[in-house]
Amino acid sequence: MPEGPEIRRAADRLRRAIEGDVARDVRLLLPALAPFERRLRGRVVASIAPRGKALLTRFEGDLTLYSHNQLYGRWIVSRGDAEPRTSRSLRVLLEGKRATIRLYSASDVAVLDDAGLARHPYLARLGPDLLDAATTPELVEARLREPPFAGRGLAGLLLDQGFIAGIGNYLRSEMLFVAGLAPERRPRDLDADERGRLAETIVRIGRRAYRTAGITNDPDRAARMKLEGFCFEARRFHVFDRAGLPCHDCGEPIERIEAGSRRLYVCRVCQR
Ligand SMILES: [Zn+2]
Repeated sequence: MPEGPEIRRAADRLRRAIEGDVARDVRLLLPALAPFERRLRGRVVASIAPRGKALLTRFEGDLTLYSHNQLYGRWIVSRGDAEPRTSRSLRVLLEGKRATIRLYSASDVAVLDDAGLARHPYLARLGPDLLDAATTPELVEARLREPPFAGRGLAGLLLDQGFIAGIGNYLRSEMLFVAGLAPERRPRDLDADERGRLAETIVRIGRRAYRTAGITNDPDRAARMKLEGFCFEARRFHVFDRAGLPCHDCGEPIERIEAGSRRLYVCRVCQR
């Protein structure tokens, strides 16, 4: 499952393809949405932005195309007349001046006005977005102290999209390792230094993963490992997917545990 950084990079690709252009053609293949085709055709695609795992494509005026890819949905960008070769079912097509973007296989697609967006059950549940510029360490630190979150175990809390939207499974393990905190700890049991460090780490590692297309490892170490010939997967993480391998920092083997029925990787020496 893609996490916040991957979803934002995918949104960036769509923005480069069509944002700011007039949608010369709009096709919405889900029957309930067909009436909106005519209303959206000829409007400017004002912005494309991720919210949690959903994508909001906002048109000039008051209508926004909401799409959530879940497991199967996939956006494809094409330039020129060639249609992508795929057996997937087309759900959405937006043709701009520079490119055409097509969404295949997703079923969770809607066209909403601002009131509809505000009421949307998935969007309404989301906390601040991990990669939003307004999501600062100070904001995360304040959220860690709020009653709904302060008593939760960190392993569960970090995956709760209502706490911070965009943290998924690899980021959870990596953030807890870099913050030096065991996944069983709770925000209210952390001292001020630990809580500040966790908040700062959440923001920093999220932005790093966005910038590097998913490399959360220490940048100097990752660069050195690349020179030494390590493949992308091998140099990518501190602990995630490294069960039994030596911790880069202390040499002890990384442990894999289950937390919230998802795998979590931890160094019991470095994380307290
Ligand atoms: Zn260690």
